[in-house]
Amino acid sequence: MSQKPASGRKRESDIWKYFLYDGMSNKSECSTCSLKVSGKNSTNLKRHLQFRHADLFALVSLANTTTKAKKVAVASTSNGNGSGNVTNTTMHAFVGASPYAEDSNKYKRRCDLLAKYLVSASIPVRTMENMEFREFSQDADPRFEVPG
Ligand SMILES: [Zn+2]
Repeated sequence: MSQKPASGRKRESDIWKYFLYDGMSNKSECSTCSLKVSGKNSTNLKRHLQFRHADLFALVSLANTTTKAKKVAVASTSNGNGSGNVTNTTMHAFVGASPYAEDSNKYKRRCDLLAKYLVSASIPVRTMENMEFREFSQDADPRFEVPG
């Protein structure tokens, strides 16, 4: 098993898949277009992705929301004794299907396709909070949980 980075920093580390920080010049180089962004402020880096590489930005945003969701799930599970899936079960009882595991290929693939769709149609990521959209997605595939 490989070592995991300290938890709590994961949200920010996602951005570092796309940048390389150079301490000498205090600049972060975008590994996609080699543009150098001053400093290593993740907000600035995200902004670069947002305007230059919208598809990557969507992926980072998705990764963040799923990470957050996972933390909540873990928190509610760890309160119980291991079978603490109560929250999830109740939440999904009405669709009659359990959601994909977040690390399953199917889930990742759908997140990926969703991100591509949002980008190609210039739809803001926050669309995923739209209840009608979630309803549509849920109906199309009850096992796929829209992140966010
Ligand atoms: Zn770039």
